[in-house]
Amino acid sequence: MYWEKDIETMGREKLAALQLEKLKETLIKAKRSVYYEKLFQKIGLNADRVTGLDMIQEIPFTTKEDLREHWPYGFVAVSKDELIRMHSSSGTTGRATVIFHTAGDIEKWTNLVARSMYMAGMRKGDVFQNMMSYGLFTGGLGFHYAAEKVGALVIPAGAGNSKRQIQLMRDFETTVIHIIPSYALHLSTVFEEMAVDPRKDTKLRIAFLGAEPHSEKMRRKIEDIYGFKGFNSYGLSEMNGPGVSFECTYQNGMHIWEDQFFVEIINPKTLKRVPDGEEGELVLTTLVREGMPIIRYRTKDLTRILPGPCECGRTHRRIERIKGRTDDMMILKGVNIFPIQIEKKLMGIPGVGINFQIILEREGYNDYLTVKVEVQKEFFAGDLKQLEGLRHRIVEELKSDILITPKVSLVEPGRLPKSEGKAVRVIDNRKE
Ligand code: AMP
Ligand code: ZN
Repeated sequence: MYWEKDIETMGREKLAALQLEKLKETLIKAKRSVYYEKLFQKIGLNADRVTGLDMIQEIPFTTKEDLREHWPYGFVAVSKDELIRMHSSSGTTGRATVIFHTAGDIEKWTNLVARSMYMAGMRKGDVFQNMMSYGLFTGGLGFHYAAEKVGALVIPAGAGNSKRQIQLMRDFETTVIHIIPSYALHLSTVFEEMAVDPRKDTKLRIAFLGAEPHSEKMRRKIEDIYGFKGFNSYGLSEMNGPGVSFECTYQNGMHIWEDQFFVEIINPKTLKRVPDGEEGELVLTTLVREGMPIIRYRTKDLTRILPGPCECGRTHRRIERIKGRTDDMMILKGVNIFPIQIEKKLMGIPGVGINFQIILEREGYNDYLTVKVEVQKEFFAGDLKQLEGLRHRIVEELKSDILITPKVSLVEPGRLPKSEGKAVRVIDNRKE
């Protein structure tokens, strides 16, 4: 049941002691980088004098901008010939950041993802098809080596090429996949076109769903279509990539691996820590990384710590599924809206298809939000009243949650742009 029982079920006190020891080591290592050397000097930090975990609050946060400004090697804390791998972020919000790993880093990361996959139930004997892009993105290689470590037969399918994906699944009897949730929905339409039923005609039993925010309703919808269990997998390249936080078989929040990451949740405005249970921005510190330690990294991801222990017996705390990034938040007529709120509502309305897009526009001083929603094809074949009824229902349901009245336009299946990577949900035309 456990990959590393001692670590996964370690008592909280022992875990805190381990974290303190690792934090001190990390600070000593980090000081060897150009960036932290300067920073520690500025704030007068002496790693040897750190006597408690709370003292981490004296160190300023590290941001994506800091990583960019010290691009490419300013955070590297070992001599360059110790580095064996580079990865980068997807770069959706500007210049991609790069992360470097030593051999030891790769080994620890691989083990962490293996621990996560094992936790969700993958075993030697499984056939694992990795449908993430291989290359700079961490979801390809990160999962690949970990699945091999667990002992699964790995099919490095990469992203896209939907028909071939389905063919591979059938020919080699894939049991476990790693897939982006929006792509899983798109792929289901290709299954339909090929007249293949994923529930009956494949052996799929587990899916790792990650890389983008998705609601509980969306997970359930995907599980329903495919007949597998879908596990939420969270990570970011700055913290290696996948393997930061992962669901166990109870599917009730993601365990965040506290032997390798120090976790804080802050209020993104006041930058003060919030208590467990309260929503805020996730801030992470690497505890075991050698090549490029990062301290108090502002992930911009919004979540909260779920109070109480998990029935699985693991002591590492759980975070709630990510609500979105602070920079995904749309502000309209003074109301804060996250794309996931819209997704959650849409997924609960019968007749709604698998894709949607949010468009923001400005006329004079007024902002407008339009949601384009794909609708199941029967609705377009049926009478117009039914279609108008559905449109009306969508407007009302969205309004009840986001508090403003959106424009809703219904489109036929397959009409909205689809992506093989992270879905682009929002088009903001407000910027002049
Ligand atoms: P990257 O560094 O390019 O791999 O992107 C990492 C970002 O993807 C994270 O900071 C999150 O915003 C997002 N992300 C990754 N996994 C998840 C997940 N399971 N749920 C929600 N967002 C995710
Ligand atoms: Zn658990």
